[in-house]
Amino acid sequence: NQTVTTVHHPRAAMPADAVLINANENPLGPCKAACDIIAAIAPKGGRYDIDGETGKLTKTFAEQNNIPEDHIMVYAGSSEPLHFSVLAFTSPSKSFVTADPSYEAGMRAAMVTKAKVVKVPLTKTYAHSRDMATADPNAGVIYICNPNNPTGTITSREDIDYILANKPAGSILLIDEAYIHLSDGQSAMEHVAAGKDVIILRTFSKIYGMAGIRCGLALGRPDLLAKMQPYGQNAMPITGSAAANVSLLDTDLVPTRKKIIASTRNDTFAWLTANKYDFIPSQSNCFMINTGRNGKSVITAMQQEKVWIGRTWPVWPNTVRVSVGTPAEMAKFKVAFKKVMDAPAT
Ligand code: PLP
Repeated sequence: NQTVTTVHHPRAAMPADAVLINANENPLGPCKAACDIIAAIAPKGGRYDIDGETGKLTKTFAEQNNIPEDHIMVYAGSSEPLHFSVLAFTSPSKSFVTADPSYEAGMRAAMVTKAKVVKVPLTKTYAHSRDMATADPNAGVIYICNPNNPTGTITSREDIDYILANKPAGSILLIDEAYIHLSDGQSAMEHVAAGKDVIILRTFSKIYGMAGIRCGLALGRPDLLAKMQPYGQNAMPITGSAAANVSLLDTDLVPTRKKIIASTRNDTFAWLTANKYDFIPSQSNCFMINTGRNGKSVITAMQQEKVWIGRTWPVWPNTVRVSVGTPAEMAKFKVAFKKVMDAPAT
């Protein structure tokens, strides 16, 4: 009775002019340097990574973040190391501790190891709770998504440091920084350099706009990274590694894109406030709206208006996640959302 979840969104199933603000993608796509190197390198794709593109990426990231190269593993996105780290560090006797609501991929990996899943509610300010440190003395992985998906809210470094200092011996903190560059939150990277029980995940799918190109990183002590290796090793697509490397080397990219996405997000928040809709202020490229009615019915009604918004989470069935698209897409979102909310709840 297994259901298979897919993470692709086939365009064929939607109208050609559908607005897709359902998967926290970046409408800006890969930067120009990334597109250029992808085109230039494609003819070399008949071989494995003969020119060492993945090594170049590792070197750049190590230099920019002051961590040794052997603390970096490159994957085709961060989904793999997220899955592998939960497989490696949880078991029927080592639980998976997560915030609720948070990104659920780790929970799905915990189903494979038959680990207990311990859900700790977000705080009143939608941060991860310090209670996560002591939620289970047999914790294997404590997963912190910062900023959190779906709320887009930050957990402070003080809170992360508290959880790290007070967690059970033998557990690891898995800190998912997929959205960190979109926010004013502080990375926990220093803990990687300091050799703590921390694995940080980064992805090029979000601010770097490479969800369809695929590149992500696991960062941690070599002995922690080595424990993940038996669960899967693969050659990187040279296009993913090379595009990620040049994206890192473009130092204007992150601040420029952070500003563009924040501007569209804040314009949307001003509109939601003016119209008295109840939303959670986010620092990321997604945010949540409490619709005050069944969220799934709102999602379906929005699709009738050709706007695909994100999903609900079981703990908040009336609240939907919306990704930040282009200004033109958010203009269509506003019209559709007002129409849907002005109609009687079904
Ligand atoms: N972590 C978080 C919090 C995410 O939201 C996502 C994707 O939406 C991922 C990890 C996985 O992304 P990818 O495999 O594209 O790096």
